[in-house]
Amino acid sequence: MIAFDHIHKRYGSTVAIHDLSLTVEPGETLALVGPNGAGKTTLIRMLLGLVRPSAGSARVGGHDVQRDGIAARSQIGYLPQRAVLYANLTVGENLGFLGQLRGVASARVADTIALLRLGELANRPVRELSGGTLQRLGLAQALLADPPVLVLDEPTISLDPLSVATFKTLLRQLRAAGKTVLLSSHILGDVQELADRVAILDHGRLIALDSVGGLARRCALPERIRVDLGAVDGGEATLARKAGAASAALQGSTLEITVAREHKLAVMRALLNSGAAVTDIQGQPPTLEDIFTQLISAEA
Ligand code: ATP
Repeated sequence: MIAFDHIHKRYGSTVAIHDLSLTVEPGETLALVGPNGAGKTTLIRMLLGLVRPSAGSARVGGHDVQRDGIAARSQIGYLPQRAVLYANLTVGENLGFLGQLRGVASARVADTIALLRLGELANRPVRELSGGTLQRLGLAQALLADPPVLVLDEPTISLDPLSVATFKTLLRQLRAAGKTVLLSSHILGDVQELADRVAILDHGRLIALDSVGGLARRCALPERIRVDLGAVDGGEATLARKAGAASAALQGSTLEITVAREHKLAVMRALLNSGAAVTDIQGQPPTLEDIFTQLISAEA
C-alpha cells in the first residue's frame, strides 16, 4: 500500500534519508523510530509530496507521489504533530468545513464526530480545547474522507493516559478495518503495543525492520526474570549464575535474574530442583527500548 523504493534525500551535504526501501502492507501498522535527526519527518514529508526526493520514489496505493501526487495524496489521512485548525470555529464547524472542501457527505462528518467521541464538544470553539482534544480532532480530520492509509506523526505525544488508551483502541479498530498505518513516535512503549513492524532509522539509514519479537531475537538480548522466594537461604543467586544466568542478585526476598533465552529453562529448572522456596516467577521479555538502545549504541 505504501512503497519507498531506493528513496534518497540530501539537503546540501546532509543525507537525511539514505537509499531506503520498505513497504507497508494493507492492514499493517508500521512505526518509524529513531533518534532526533534520524530522518523520520523527511521520510513522511516525501510520502506526502511535501519534500522532493533526490533519488528513488514513494508510492501510495500504486500511485507515484511525484508523478501522480493528487491520486497518491487522496489515499492518505495525515495527522501532523500540530493539526491545522480554525481556532474561532467550533469542532463541528471545523470538520463540516473540511468535509465540504473534500466533498465528504455530512453523514460521514457526523459518523467521524461520533467515532472520535467529539459529540459533546461539537459546539465548542477550537481555541478552548485541551491539547489532547485537539489531537483527537486532528485524528478526526485525518479520518474524515475514510482514506485507506493513515500517516500519524507523534500521535500520542500530548495525550493523557486515558486518551492514550482510547487512541490505542481506536487504532486497533482501524487496523482491523484494514487501514494501513505509518506512524512516527518517540514513545517506544506505545510503538511496542501498536506496531506490527518497526523500522529503526539512524542518520538516515534503515538499520532494522522487523516485528518487536523479531528484533528481540536478532539482538539476542537477555530477558529479565523476577523469582519471588518464600524463604531465602542465600545460595540462590550463585545457583542461578552457575546454571547460565548472565546476572542474578537478591533484592530482599526476590531474585532478580537476567538470562539469555536459550538458558532460561535451565536456570528455572536448577532453582526448582534445588528446593528453593519459589513462590512466583515473572518474566519480562526485552522491551523495544532495550532493543532500540542496543541497536543505536551499536551504530554509534
Ligand atoms: P526528530 O525526531 O528530531 O523530529 P527526524 O527523525 O524527524 O528528527 P528529520 O527532521 O527528518 O529527522 O531530519 C533529518 C536530517 O535532515 C537532520 O540532520 C536535519 O537537520 C536535516 N534536515 C531536515 N530538514 C531540513 C531542511 N529543510 N534543510 C536542511 N536540513 C534539513
